[in-house]
Amino acid sequence: MSEAIEKVECLIIGSGPAGYTAAIYAARADMKPVLYEGLQPGGQLTITTDVENYPGYPDGIMGPEMMENFKKQAVRLGTDVRFGMVTSVEFTPGGPQKVIVDGTKEISAQAVIISTGASAKWLGLPSEERLNGSGVSACAVCDGFFYRGTDVAIVGAGDTACEEASYLSKICNKVYMLVRRDEFRASKAMQHRVLTTPNIEVLYNTETDEILGEQAVEGVRVLNNKTNETREIPIKGFFVAIGHTPNTEIFKPYIDMDDQGYIITEKGTSKTNIEGVFCAGDAQDKIYRQAVTAAGSGCMAALDAERWLSEKAAD
Ligand code: NDP
Repeated sequence: MSEAIEKVECLIIGSGPAGYTAAIYAARADMKPVLYEGLQPGGQLTITTDVENYPGYPDGIMGPEMMENFKKQAVRLGTDVRFGMVTSVEFTPGGPQKVIVDGTKEISAQAVIISTGASAKWLGLPSEERLNGSGVSACAVCDGFFYRGTDVAIVGAGDTACEEASYLSKICNKVYMLVRRDEFRASKAMQHRVLTTPNIEVLYNTETDEILGEQAVEGVRVLNNKTNETREIPIKGFFVAIGHTPNTEIFKPYIDMDDQGYIITEKGTSKTNIEGVFCAGDAQDKIYRQAVTAAGSGCMAALDAERWLSEKAAD
């Protein structure tokens, strides 16, 4: 390691609603939190538009603006927010915990709060990887603008896919929704929105066989899994909205997780199996996954960390 080891009381990994809320509480409890933002500062809400279900905003708020507000509040109260990626950890029950940032900087933290969230899943086709950024995207709100006036396709049948199809329908000529079963997973309200939008065509029992195009997306070859027929649809944009994977890989050697990689916390708390390491937000929640529940669990993590540090100091 090239730099001296920095000692930190409370280290927060991740900058979504969970991380920033943990930071707000930790800063007010005088735990001098240091927060590393990670690869996507602000987290998933920075790639969404209107947030209408976060209490306290009667007219809604744009996701990126909301996250900017979270950050401002955390900084104003004394959080040291840093741009950087935690690349590895070495956890020991009771600590201190060793955390490496950007592969080089070593930090020794008394308490660690994991709030690394979750990332979009991909289909896993070579053509999807090859054309990523050249017509293939996992964020309609970020990239839809590039395909305005054209025909596009979106894979998925959950609330995210419906929300994104609806968004795309406003700027694109036509949206094909590729649904692998004969029904949606999304809530009835979201389904209704999609099914009543004239320029969204839902193709049921439809899987993506190949995304077509050399330099950029030119079409998609789809397979009807009932009839086994394939068909090519000309499109310019291909959007993937099939769910998320928790960003917990680096913690695997130390932290107990379920089979999908979600961190297991002690019931009703944010405590992981490693004493002194806490977890909040989507990294441990595959059920609710809302900004407000993430924020709530961030608060829990800071309170749990604060109590744990106080008890440790009293010993
Ligand atoms: P979900 O896990 O709910 O849905 C994923 C969808 O992708 C499913 O329809 C699934 O199909 C489909 N899928 C998965 N893998 C593939 C594949 N390889 N090929 C084709 N299709 C595939 O994820 P979401 O991101 O939609 O939602 C996550 C959570 O966030 C949910 O709880 C949702 O309710 C919530 N949410 C709420 C919103 C709101 O209330 N405004 C907005 C967005 C999300 P299948 O059904 O066949 O398994």
